[in-house]
Amino acid sequence: MPATFPGQPFFHYAHEQLHVEDCALNTLAEQFGTPLFVYSKAAMLSALAAYQRGFAGRKAQICYAMKANSTLAVLQVFARAGCGFDIVSGGELARVIAAGGDVTKVIFSGVGKTRAEMRLALETGIGCFNVESESEIDVLNEVATAMGLRAPISIRVNPNVDPKTHPYISTGLKGNKFGIAHERTLAVYQHAAALPGLKVVGIDCHIGSQITEVNPYLDAMDRMLDLVETIESHGIAIEHIDFGGGLGIDYQGDTPPQADALWAQLLAKLDARGFGQRKLMIEPGRSLVGNAGVCVTEVLYLKPGEQKNFCIVDAAMNDLPRPAMYQAFHAIVPLDTSAPSAPTALYDVVGPVCESGDWIGRDRSLQVAPGDKVAVMSAGAYCMSMASNYNARGRAAEVLVEGTKASLVRAREAVSDLFASESLVG
Ligand SMILES: *Cc1c(COP(=O)(O)O)cnc(C)c1O
Repeated sequence: MPATFPGQPFFHYAHEQLHVEDCALNTLAEQFGTPLFVYSKAAMLSALAAYQRGFAGRKAQICYAMKANSTLAVLQVFARAGCGFDIVSGGELARVIAAGGDVTKVIFSGVGKTRAEMRLALETGIGCFNVESESEIDVLNEVATAMGLRAPISIRVNPNVDPKTHPYISTGLKGNKFGIAHERTLAVYQHAAALPGLKVVGIDCHIGSQITEVNPYLDAMDRMLDLVETIESHGIAIEHIDFGGGLGIDYQGDTPPQADALWAQLLAKLDARGFGQRKLMIEPGRSLVGNAGVCVTEVLYLKPGEQKNFCIVDAAMNDLPRPAMYQAFHAIVPLDTSAPSAPTALYDVVGPVCESGDWIGRDRSLQVAPGDKVAVMSAGAYCMSMASNYNARGRAAEVLVEGTKASLVRAREAVSDLFASESLVG
């Protein structure tokens, strides 16, 4: 077992025990139970710092795409570090407010904003609506006009570049539901600029997720800058350019560029094209939190079979949906390597949920016995925020670690919470 994890430098083995910062995960699992999500605050701030270094001396706003992990204490870390937030629902806006975030630094993305969500966001005074369709433009204009307000907008453009990632997380291709077609952009800006309830402030794109190459970003940037030139030549000023999120992380030897290195290349292009002083926005999600978290789970049963051995753990697809949704890979490692309790065997690591799709890892070589605990690595993004109550399973607890200090930031969901809003028919 390697003593360190290249993608997760804030997790390491010391005295044969897996630690997050200065806390042993086994101790946390005993204290708080399993399944348990554990996050490193230093890992989040270090991921953010790479972007901050990249943008040093620029006019730039980092808006954490909170759908990656919208736990209040996680939002609080980023709010205190000066981040804005990219939201996709009224519920996420309420979370930003509850976490003490600055609503003027909130941008509202998403293809299906309701009128009620638009009103809430306008009342709150968010920074910008990232509008995703021509019909949404008209509805937002109507809602804002009725309130006697002008909604600040940016139009999400679909630059039609291939981010070279999993089809379910690619968003900037023609066949995707997101954004306005590149060819329609000027006409849509002209329409929006003429409406009394809207104020054009920016342009944005977001081409996909878990992107590990620089080229898709460079291509999208060229297309965006071409559009800005065209739109501005028609007398419509674009104050900010938002390049979305999408930067990948190392799950399994993936080698995405570091955020500062990526931005050094992108800023060179912006400078070369004369946009270096423009206000920039970005919406990173996964790259800020994905490798800041793990999910600790206990081995319940080993079930040897003729074709497969199963290692059944107490976390499941309702806690860790990415393998079932995108065949995603999470490394799975033991918490304690001091005295392996069993010989090495190859297992499919699965949860208790009654679905064949409920698997967490396939063909993993592990030395485990019932009662042992393992960590599902790289579980900070798109795990807890996608967790469900399927099979009437309460959602896991969450702990935020800072050095030697571990704070329970979400209590384990009790069964009574699960049906508190339901009623029997009288
Ligand atoms: C999901 C999303 C992001 C964040 O994507 P990551 O891959 O997590 O960085 C940013 N912007 C928009 C509009 C999104 O939908």
